This record gives sequence, C-alpha cells and structure tokens, in this order.
Amino acid sequence: MTGTVAVIGAGTMGAGIAQCLAQAGRDVIVVEPDPNAVARARKSLDEAVRLALLLGRGDRRTALEAARRVRWTDRIDELGEVDFVIECATERIELKERLFAELDRHCPPGAVLASATSAIPIARLAAATGRPEQVLGLHFMNPAPLTDAVEVVRGEQTSAHTLTRATDLLTALGKESIVVGDRPGFVLNRLLMLTIAQAAATLDTGTDAATVDALFERCLGHKMGPLRTADLIGLDNVADTIDVLHRETGEDHYRVPPALATLVAAGHFGRKTGQGFHDYR
Ligand code: NAD
Repeated sequence: MTGTVAVIGAGTMGAGIAQCLAQAGRDVIVVEPDPNAVARARKSLDEAVRLALLLGRGDRRTALEAARRVRWTDRIDELGEVDFVIECATERIELKERLFAELDRHCPPGAVLASATSAIPIARLAAATGRPEQVLGLHFMNPAPLTDAVEVVRGEQTSAHTLTRATDLLTALGKESIVVGDRPGFVLNRLLMLTIAQAAATLDTGTDAATVDALFERCLGHKMGPLRTADLIGLDNVADTIDVLHRETGEDHYRVPPALATLVAAGHFGRKTGQGFHDYR
C-alpha cells in the first residue's frame, strides 16, 4: 500500500500522526478547518524535522522531504485519491458521525476509514457509512511519534482485509498493533478515564496533584501519574471522553469530577495551554 493517507483534524493527535506518516515516507493530506490549528501543526512538523536533522537521524534530504510530503487543506471534498483515512477530530459523537458520512461520500470506495477516537464505539461510526467492513479504530497514544504500540479496535463488521491493511500501515510506521474488541472506551480508556476521574476526585479531600502523581510514580514505578497523564492528553479531551463513556455505558462512575470541570471551564487544558492539574509555565 503506497497511496496517500488523509488525516482529519490537525490538533495534538492529527499533527503527531501526520508526522509519523510523513517520516515513514507516505504522502499525507491533512484536513483542518481552523487556520490556527494548521499553523501550530505545521510548526510542530517543522520543529520535528529540525530536531531529526540536529540529532543526525536520516539524511537532510529525507528529513526535508518529510515536511514537503504533507499537504494542508480545509476541504474534505479533496480526498478523491486517498486510500486510507485517519480521523482525528474533536471527541464529539455527532461531529464524528457527520464526518464519517462525509468521508464515505468523498473517499474512493476502496479507502479504509479509521478513527483515532478515545472512546466512541466503532459501530456508531461504521453505521454512518455505506462501508462498515472498512471502518476500524486506531487509538494512537500521545505523543504519537514517540509511542511504540497502537490499540487497534476491530468493529463487529470490520473485515479481516481491513484489519490487515491497518496493521500493515502501523508496521510501516514502526508501531505494534494490539487488537481489541469494540466497546465504549475500548480497553485502555475504559480503565484510564476511571483512574483519572477518581484521582481528580481525591483533590477534593485536600491531597494535591503532586502527591497523587508521586504515589503512582514513586510507589508503583509508573512513568507518569494519572493527573500528569491527563495534562498530557489535554483536559478538554479527557472531559469529552468521560462524557462519551457516561453516555455510551450509562455507568455513573464515568462523571467529570468538579476539580476537572473547573479547570476546563477556566480554559486550563493541561500542557497545551501551560496549566492543568500541574503548572507548565
Ligand atoms: P485537539 O482538540 O487537539 O484537536 C482536534 C482538532 O479537530 C482541532 O484542531 C479541531 O479544529 C479539529 N476539527 C474539529 N472539527 C473538525 C472537522 N469537521 N474537520 C476536521 N477537523 C476538525 O484533539 P486531540 O487531542 O488531537 O484529539 C483528537 C482525537 O484523538 C479525539 O477523538 C481524541 O479523543 C483522540 N485521542 C486523543 C489523545 C490525546 O492524548 N490527546 C489520545 C488518543 C486519542
């Protein structure tokens, strides 16, 4: 498979995934309506190329070609020649359902439509298309260029051929595929979002964020505590994901805790804004 890959949304995940694809030699088209998001994503791609050059990774021509391999547009109807799509737009069910219906209309019949969703069941997105056997979840972790494996979500109707095309693409990006079944939050976020919500709830008892994370990092040896992980994901995305989990499972423990809701309402989304449970300024 050598055709162009489309990335929908140039936020934290879209920018990182576009970088992985371009550095692996794939042509990429990124669809993003927000010009500020495009500017940020272009800057992060340029910085990654500069860093690769600085560290002597690959030759100069290869690194510069990676940046040139990415085309940016705000038009979803320019996807007539792609053979694989990775949708990375904001975690809202109705938005993604609408996007999948549009992707189905504008992409060639053979194109695979994948979503980087954190929690939305793949069956819901597949149902918005006329090609449910070509829809699956590719739950990359953040930062996408630095992570080793991807949680691959096989929907009930995802075909074996689609799964192979997806895992082949991930192999070409140097990533292992870990395949799981389709349920809200899949495996990782079903557990992780509960941990983050409960960790944030402990802040109401007077324990501070540094203490909560220190317990996970120093007592359990985790690389990063749950609140620092939430700051890395983006607190707006964490709140959206917990909302999706509540809506899709009906389980009451998936509730955005007050400490998290307050930060999101104040525009403190974690690392990307400089402040979250921790201060990065
Ligand atoms: P983000 O807020 O950083 O970026 C989302 C981008 O989608 C924004 O730039 C927004 O303008 C764009 N967008 C909105 N509507 C669009 C449309 N109609 N067409 C094209 N683009 C559109 O969010 P993110 O953190 O990059 O998350 C993107 C997806 O990846 C979400 O589904 C999220 O749940 C998932 N995800 C996030 C993480 C993480 O750690 N941040 C990890 C795994 C999966």
